[in-house]
Amino acid sequence: MNPLNNMIVSSLQLFPKSIVKRFALRYIAGEHVEDAVRLVRSLNAGRIMATVDVLGENVSDKSDAEKSSSAAREVLKVIAENKLDANLSIKLTQFGLNIDKDFCYSNVKPVMDLAKSYGNFVRIDMEDSGTTSTTLGIYEKFRADGYDNTGVVIQAYMRRSESDVRRLIDMKASVRLCKGIYIEPEDIAFKKREEIRQNYILLLNMLLEGGCKVGIATHDDYLIRSAYDAIARLNVQRNNFEFQMLLGVRSDLRDRIVADGHRLRIYVPFGEQWYAYSMRRFKENPQVAGYVLKSVLFGQ
Ligand SMILES: Cc1cc2nc3c(=O)[nH]c(=O)nc-3n(C[C@H](O)[C@H](O)[C@H](O)COP(=O)(O)OP(=O)(O)OC[C@H]3O[C@@H](n4cnc5c(N)ncnc54)[C@H](O)[C@@H]3O)c2cc1C
Repeated sequence: MNPLNNMIVSSLQLFPKSIVKRFALRYIAGEHVEDAVRLVRSLNAGRIMATVDVLGENVSDKSDAEKSSSAAREVLKVIAENKLDANLSIKLTQFGLNIDKDFCYSNVKPVMDLAKSYGNFVRIDMEDSGTTSTTLGIYEKFRADGYDNTGVVIQAYMRRSESDVRRLIDMKASVRLCKGIYIEPEDIAFKKREEIRQNYILLLNMLLEGGCKVGIATHDDYLIRSAYDAIARLNVQRNNFEFQMLLGVRSDLRDRIVADGHRLRIYVPFGEQWYAYSMRRFKENPQVAGYVLKSVLFGQ
């Protein structure tokens, strides 16, 4: 991550939340499920699919984790009622992963069941390295228990990802491949931009050659070009891959991918817990310094 961005974002944390929210709204649909419905509907009108995420993470109280489970089921219900072209993304620490992994599994299970009854799909996001093994373990347990309507995420910056991908290929997993957003130590994670890109390309080729369904989640032109090349070279069927992008990031690229005839899904987060997610997005935004200065100097 860019050190200037880190500095600017650290100073943002001193601002009142009402000001930070003004910037955050670029990356989230709003605070309520109706906001997400409105946004997904407009994406769908432009032939873009969505994955909806109820914001929140690192829950330490069982009753909060249970509330996350109800909120996720509410989203699935709303998607079905409104006939939206959208699935659900969840973070396991929001469902109690850090409390107890068996509790977490049983708290996610009703979500998987409901998704299955609607013919919908649940993507399990990947969080920091302290949760990688347990997250993959819970994903693998769902698959072993017959839930084929779920997929997981692999982070290209993690050194372990190549061996994780080998296991996922054996299971014909549905995998979203991203670079990874959490700050991890060098002994377990690649740190240099080029190393992360090269590992991304390696893992992408492994997954496509291995016959996995792949969500190619990146806004990096270089990786998108490499993905186009790999898809053409391997003659990958249209339904076996999709591009995925975050709400509020690079709409120019989004339009180009759709115009090229590819499937594209946008990650649409909403909810009251927008702060931590937005801070991560700010750190990745090369223009964040400009936005903040403009707002401070001109009140825009
Ligand atoms: C659909 C989706 C789901 C994801 N799920 C996870 C997950 O489960 N776990 C996880 O660790 N990470 C996840 N990520 C985040 C991912 O790991 C990266 O941190 C993020 O996508 C930025 O990496 P990049 O590949 O876009 O490359 P970058 O090199 O970071 O970005 C490429 C270009 O995109 C633009 N850009 C990137 N970010 C922003 C921004 N915030 N604001 C404005 N412009 C920006 C810039 O022009 C930049 O030069 C997800 C990303 C996507 C797209």
